[in-house]
Formats: sequence, C-alpha cells, structure tokens
Amino acid sequence: MSALKVAFRYAYAPVMVIGMNAAAFFVVAKGHHYGWLGAVLLAALALAFLAERISPVHDEWNHSHGDEKANAVHALVYEMSSLNGVMLLPLIAWLTPWAGIWPHDWPLIIQVVLAIVVADLAFTLVHYWSHIYPVLWRLHAVHHGVPRMYGFNGLVRHPLHQTLDMVVGTLPLALAGMPVDVALMLGFAVSIQLIVQHSNVEYELGPFRNVMSIGRIHHLHHVNWGKEGDCNFGLFTTLWDRMLGTFHPEPPRPIKANDLGVDDVPDFPKSYWEQLMFPFVYTPGVGLKNPGSQKSVPASPAPDTMHPAE
Ligand SMILES: [Zn+2]
Repeated sequence: MSALKVAFRYAYAPVMVIGMNAAAFFVVAKGHHYGWLGAVLLAALALAFLAERISPVHDEWNHSHGDEKANAVHALVYEMSSLNGVMLLPLIAWLTPWAGIWPHDWPLIIQVVLAIVVADLAFTLVHYWSHIYPVLWRLHAVHHGVPRMYGFNGLVRHPLHQTLDMVVGTLPLALAGMPVDVALMLGFAVSIQLIVQHSNVEYELGPFRNVMSIGRIHHLHHVNWGKEGDCNFGLFTTLWDRMLGTFHPEPPRPIKANDLGVDDVPDFPKSYWEQLMFPFVYTPGVGLKNPGSQKSVPASPAPDTMHPAE
C-alpha cells in the first residue's frame, strides 16, 4: 500500500470530523463572516472526493452512475433548506419568550456538543421511524435509492423528509432558545457527518470504530438485503442505536459494490424530478406505479421485503 494511501486511510476521519468542525468553530467563535462556513464545506467536499480517488472502498463507486446532476441539485437544495431553517431562529426566539432556558452562559463548544447530542437522538428516532412506518419510508426511500456510496449521497434527501428531520431534530432546540451561532455549527457538523458517512473512502477509526456511526456501520445500513439493513440509524454516534437495540457492528457478509439500494425498486429513478415525485408513485413492498412514466415495477412483493407494505 502506498504511503499516500496509508496517510488518507488514517487521517481522513480525524481531518474531516475534527479538523473541518474545528475550522467552522473558529469561523463562528472569532466572529468571521459566515460565508467562510461555505468555503470550509466546499473544502471538505473536495477532500472527500480526493480521498475517494486515493483510498476507495470500491472502485466501482467512483464511476458515474448517471446520478451526478440530480445529486448536485439535492446538495444545493439541502444546504439552502438548512440555511432557511437557521434564518427562522430569530423569529422563533421572538415568538417564544421562554427561550431563556438555553444555557447561553456555557462555553460555546459545550453548547454545540449539547445541541449535537440532543439532535442526534431526534435524528436517530426519525430515521428509525422512517424505516418502520410506510408513509415515512416513501420519503426516506429517496435517500436509499442511491446505487453507490460517495461524498454527495448523504445530502440526497427528499425535501419533505429533510423538513421533518429539521422540525423534529432542531425545533426543540430552537424553542429552548438555541442561538444562531450554535445552530450554524450544528448544521455544519451534520453536513460533515453526512459526507463522511457516505463517502467511498476506506478509512480507519481505531477505538472509535463502534462509537461513531460512520464507515462500514453506515454502509451496512444501505444494503438491499431485505431487513438486514434496518439497523445503525444514528447520525453522530451509535449510542442511541445501542439503546434501541438496532446497533449491528459487522455486516453478516462482505458488502459488494452492487449491494446498495431499495430492494423493491432495483432500477431507481435517476432524475431529480422523478425522485421528487417518487414518494407519490411508490408503494412500499410493491414498487412503482405507472410503469409508463417510471422504469421499474417488480412483478410481486418480495416475501421478506425490507419495509412493511401499506
Ligand atoms: Zn435509512
């Protein structure tokens, strides 16, 4: 193995998770223009794409699957929606005079950690419910339609599901009076986490291998092996999965490059518009309606389908 590959293998996760978040913290804590957060996020994406070339899990995941255009739109919509959510904070604070329960006098870093721990629980629960309840799975399936893992795929979300995530994950914090600075860093940390979770990089986590909900733990969540991917719902840590009893540290067999996707929609729609309409033409356990307008309709429900049929 080349020295460069070894360097990326060991440095990728610390640089992304610690380094990029530290850079964002510096921007906010020192009062620099918030626009710099966008620059740090672009640098993180660039590093993820570079690492994928140097130390990939599967070479096949680096090749185009005809998904770049739709994924770029997803990434843009995702970040704009997050920003809109943050911009609502002053309005929420104005409408909620009890917002003073937020511990404004704690060190900023502790406030950010508090926000991450609370949001991680909420995101894990929404994610867990999204695999249980068909009405939510219809929306969340857009995220699982990705045929490969790479940097952009974490930001592939149906806008309605992202809104649900934001409302459940951050509204309690907003109502408690979370300041804009903390919300921006929470949003930034979520974006970094999504990029690292889904990037096609073979990296080492050492003693954090079963503590952080990234790497192979999340790849297992994306397999199309019936119910075997219904585990590891966490975004930041495996803590809440352990409490839910849904933590699976090892895949039962090696994950191959073509083992990802939604099992009842093997030929998932590729365009952004089709993915936007997907929840309304998809029946969990059956597949897509309107075969004329969409590409795939399995003949019958799989007996051990991954998610409950309606
Ligand atoms: Zn999921």
